[in-house]
Amino acid sequence: MNEIRNFCIIAHIDHGKSTIADRLLEYTKTIQITEGQMLDDMDLERERGITIKSHAIQMEYELNGEKYILNLIDTPGHVDFSYEVSRSIAACEGALLVVDATQGVQAQTISNLYMALEHDLEIIPVINKIDMPSAMPDEVEDEIVDLLGCDRTEIIRASGKTGEGIPEILNAVVERIPHPSGNPDAPLQALIFDSVFNSFRGIIAYFKIENGSIAKGDKVKFYNTGMEYTADEVGVLKMDMIPRQRLSTGDVGYIISGIKDSKEVKVGDTITHVARPCEKAISGFQEVKPMVFAGVYPIDPSDYENLRASLEKLQLNDASLTFSPESSVALGFGFRCGFLGLLHMEIVQERLDREFDMDVITTVPNVSYMVYDKHGNVKEVHNPSGLPDSTLIDHIEEPYIRASIITSSNFIGPIMKLCLDKRGELINQEYVSGNRVELHFMIPLGEIVIDFYDKLKSVSKGYASFDYHVDCFRPSKLAKLDILLNGEPVDALSTLTHQDNAATFGRRMCEKLKELIPRQQFDIAIQAAIGAKIIARETIKCVRKDVTAKCYGGDVSRKRKLLEKQKKGKKRMKQIGNVEVPQKAFLAVLKLD
Ligand code: GDP
Ligand code: MG
Repeated sequence: MNEIRNFCIIAHIDHGKSTIADRLLEYTKTIQITEGQMLDDMDLERERGITIKSHAIQMEYELNGEKYILNLIDTPGHVDFSYEVSRSIAACEGALLVVDATQGVQAQTISNLYMALEHDLEIIPVINKIDMPSAMPDEVEDEIVDLLGCDRTEIIRASGKTGEGIPEILNAVVERIPHPSGNPDAPLQALIFDSVFNSFRGIIAYFKIENGSIAKGDKVKFYNTGMEYTADEVGVLKMDMIPRQRLSTGDVGYIISGIKDSKEVKVGDTITHVARPCEKAISGFQEVKPMVFAGVYPIDPSDYENLRASLEKLQLNDASLTFSPESSVALGFGFRCGFLGLLHMEIVQERLDREFDMDVITTVPNVSYMVYDKHGNVKEVHNPSGLPDSTLIDHIEEPYIRASIITSSNFIGPIMKLCLDKRGELINQEYVSGNRVELHFMIPLGEIVIDFYDKLKSVSKGYASFDYHVDCFRPSKLAKLDILLNGEPVDALSTLTHQDNAATFGRRMCEKLKELIPRQQFDIAIQAAIGAKIIARETIKCVRKDVTAKCYGGDVSRKRKLLEKQKKGKKRMKQIGNVEVPQKAFLAVLKLD
């Protein structure tokens, strides 16, 4: 194992992690890049520039006549996946800390760095994009020195575009990162840091061996789930899976063992032998729990079974997605889905649309609440409309996050105001360097899932980076706000909101819905209510709309086209009582200004 180096790349989003990874693979001739980026293989990922699923890839590199095996473990790049990042980091001995020369240190740079330091990783700082005219490598170097307390000479200047600095990075990986340690003769202990679904082979788990060795045909046990399997195939990951007879301490590889259910392979679990098990699991294992929930309903009720099948398929690739059947008076039969966070939710929505061609209505996201009754019993509630009657509730607790925001000092005021409006509480404020500050807040997660990102972006003109983790549950005075259309409560529009904000919130909801619901042949009353009390009201006046009126007589085909277009538009409409409500109205709360 002396020739092995296991490392990852940590960076704030868009600082060039994937680009640097590609250059490393290219330089070591692991891949020939033709176009696009190799590590991100899902379309969606490429478009968003976010690595959603981590992968691992092995490179060979020669330095001073010695041959080395470098395992690059790719980490997911977004806050929603921070537990998965922590497990990938735990599988490494070193990390490249990539910082964009035009942007400097950002929120995720710091949160990922802390994670790497917690696992005692050797950090190799890299300043990327030095080819850009707006690069400020000297300033960024100062920031990195402040952050790491390292020597200037340790920092590598590089460009993923021109390839400058790439050989220096590879040399540093070999020279500075320690080889893995562990005892090859000890009982097997392998850390699962990722898994993927393959339609022919089932679930493939990626692991790093901390101690012992594993061979094809071994009887193995997954420590935390307690499930036992036969290792049908083990091997290493290059551009393809390369089967091997045996893998040993320090190796990074994959195991195929006929697993069909993605839930059986838990990131962070330990693989050991049935016959000679290790004494304890590798520490740090957690069950990831969804924190954000939303209802997902087929627009056409006959698609219900299709939707279930699609969600099941998605879950094969994505064990952190949960769903259970629910029904809504307004929307009929659908599912309540649980997501790690907002980005995760968007990804699932888009995949349902693109890969499965499902037309769905998604309701406003909410967080999970702990509802305590008068007898001290606690119930987890994932849907505001599932809240027990208010007379039975003693109090409700909601999740709080610890947020870190890095920005320049001239935006402190507006950001502070935004966070306080979101019921946030400033914890501290520290200068990163020059005029850039890091602010820490405690904020209810429920406020973040509403429209926080967009607002943060606008008040900071894009110059603020944001990172968070869920910290604790705290009691809050929450009230359920209902929306009624022509007197009928629309359960899918119910939200939980803080009592002090309820009146303003209800008024803004009504105003927004008035904008979003098209006029129809009759007046529509929109009301907001808390319990039996109406707190706001708007009316949409009736209109008679004839879309074909513009087509002066003759052109029949154009007329038909318009009608078809209107019909298609209607697919995104849901009939609530006698009112037609478009999908975007169900997300009205996200658009309140
Ligand atoms: P990631 O989100 O950290 O994986 O970032 P990417 O590797 O996807 O890079 C983000 C953007 O920066 C992409 O448009 C890259 O083409 C661009 N980029 C990355 N490295 C460099 C570099 O060294 N120079 C320049 N000019 N652009 C770069
Ligand atoms: Mg990337």
